[in-house]
Amino acid sequence: MADKVAEHKHCPVCGRSMGGNDRFCSPECEQALVKQRKKQQRTMYIFMGVLVLLFVVMLAFPNACSSLLGGGTTARP
Ligand SMILES: [Zn+2]
Repeated sequence: MADKVAEHKHCPVCGRSMGGNDRFCSPECEQALVKQRKKQQRTMYIFMGVLVLLFVVMLAFPNACSSLLGGGTTARP
C-alpha cells in the first residue's frame, strides 16, 4: 500500500518531490538550508552568550542583581 511512497523523496526546503539520491531538488535549495542552519546556529550562539554574560554579571554583582530582580529576601540596611 505504501510501497510507492518510498520511491520518491521531497526536498526539505521547497517540498518539491524528487527522485534519485539527491537530498535537495536544486543547489539553490541546498544553499538555502545551509544559510538557514548557519542563521539558527548564530542565533543559538548569541543566546548562549547572553546567558553566560548574565550569569557572569550575576556572579560579579549579586547585590545589584537581587535588587534589580526585586528580591526582598536580601538584608538591606
Ligand atoms: Zn527544493
